[in-house]
Amino acid sequence: MTKLKKECQKYLPGVLFEESLEKYSTFRIGGKADFFYKLKSNKEFPSIIKFCINENLPFFIFGAGSNILFSDKGFRGLVIKIETEKLEFTGTNIKADAGVLVSKLIKESVAKGLSGLEKWVGLPGTVGGAVRGNAGCNGLETRDILIGATILDPKTGSIQQAKNAYFHYDYRYSKLKRTGEIVLDATFKLEKRKFSAQKQKQIMDEIRKFRQEKQPFGSTTGSFFKNPSPDTPAGMLIDQAGLKGKTIGKAKISEKHANFFLNNGGASYKDILKLAKLAKRQVKAKFGVILEEEVQILSEKGPITLAV
Ligand SMILES: Cc1cc2nc3c(=O)[nH]c(=O)nc-3n(C[C@H](O)[C@H](O)[C@H](O)COP(=O)(O)OP(=O)(O)OC[C@H]3O[C@@H](n4cnc5c(N)ncnc54)[C@H](O)[C@@H]3O)c2cc1C
Repeated sequence: MTKLKKECQKYLPGVLFEESLEKYSTFRIGGKADFFYKLKSNKEFPSIIKFCINENLPFFIFGAGSNILFSDKGFRGLVIKIETEKLEFTGTNIKADAGVLVSKLIKESVAKGLSGLEKWVGLPGTVGGAVRGNAGCNGLETRDILIGATILDPKTGSIQQAKNAYFHYDYRYSKLKRTGEIVLDATFKLEKRKFSAQKQKQIMDEIRKFRQEKQPFGSTTGSFFKNPSPDTPAGMLIDQAGLKGKTIGKAKISEKHANFFLNNGGASYKDILKLAKLAKRQVKAKFGVILEEEVQILSEKGPITLAV
């Protein structure tokens, strides 16, 4: 065992070596990470960061993996999956650790007789992923209900409380995408349910059904690209560029929703990248629009964006 492995084991008991990333992404694609750690408590973070800085070990954090494309070559460094799960209510506010799944947030708030998250039924991912990416659907974005969050600066290990305005929210954007700061927990403002529990269930059932009708089922990360504007969804542009149903290797652009890329079983990182580059090229050539990735692409060396 190398010195680094030994050190890693000392600081991170339970660390996994050569862990395949495939099962941690909804794309079901990904090679082995040198080191892999499931983080259960926010208290562990500062010392992990310190360790990585001291050892010059690159690290990458993620939540539910519903918005990530991992490389077939894995990652040369430490991948941290945030699995923190504390959740508490104060009146109509809900404070949740970054690792809490949005589906759990909805379930628990409904059980408490609260309302405000119904529109997010079927939205995959964790609280941390949502806060960073301003996730949302059906007219409700994270910025609409976030009061604030505890964030960690990975360069220094310092922790601060940040209010909603700190995040400079925009469509699928927060400042964290630029700074790389990590969300440890977040507090959301909900309200007391003003209608019956039955009505709430009905609303959520309808939203669930709508999602099932509009989106393909399978190994995907949802929308691959951001919509250039509300009137010009990326899916429409990809469709009009003639790419609906286009297949490269085992990767396919969904027939149902052209901004959904599917791994039809055994697709490689390269298959998806080729498809994404093709979509970018054709949309630029036909409409002069440059599509921007919503999905985080992680090469073996770190996060990347695609050239046109
Ligand atoms: C079928 C399907 C449908 C989808 N529909 C929607 C939709 O309607 N609306 C929408 O907005 N999204 C949608 N998505 C995308 C995805 O659900 C969201 O982007 C979600 O917020 C990602 O959360 P996550 O925990 O899975 O993030 P991950 O995929 O784990 O990570 C995504 C990025 O966030 C970063 N990150 C994760 N946790 C943290 C943290 N604690 N602090 C800082 N950075 C962090 C990671 O480093 C990575 O860069 C869909 C995805 C799928 C698979």
